[in-house]
Amino acid sequence: MRCSQEASRIQDYISGELGREDRMMLESHLSGCEECKTCAETMLFFRSRLRDLFRVTAPVELRNRIATLSAGGGKS
Ligand SMILES: [Zn+2]
Repeated sequence: MRCSQEASRIQDYISGELGREDRMMLESHLSGCEECKTCAETMLFFRSRLRDLFRVTAPVELRNRIATLSAGGGKS
């Protein structure tokens, strides 16, 4: 398995979109490949940071408004 192929898998892996088999294959690759492991850790770090940022920039009122809009069935 080539490392260049792993990068896109790692993204799917982190976002939980990877199937069980692919996940196991990737995990076994990560355990033997320092480069991809660092890559995965970096992605994971930035992903959690981004989520924190998004939480700050999307206040509860705004999220409620969006939820109301999508629940309204598009009527105005
Ligand atoms: Zn690798």
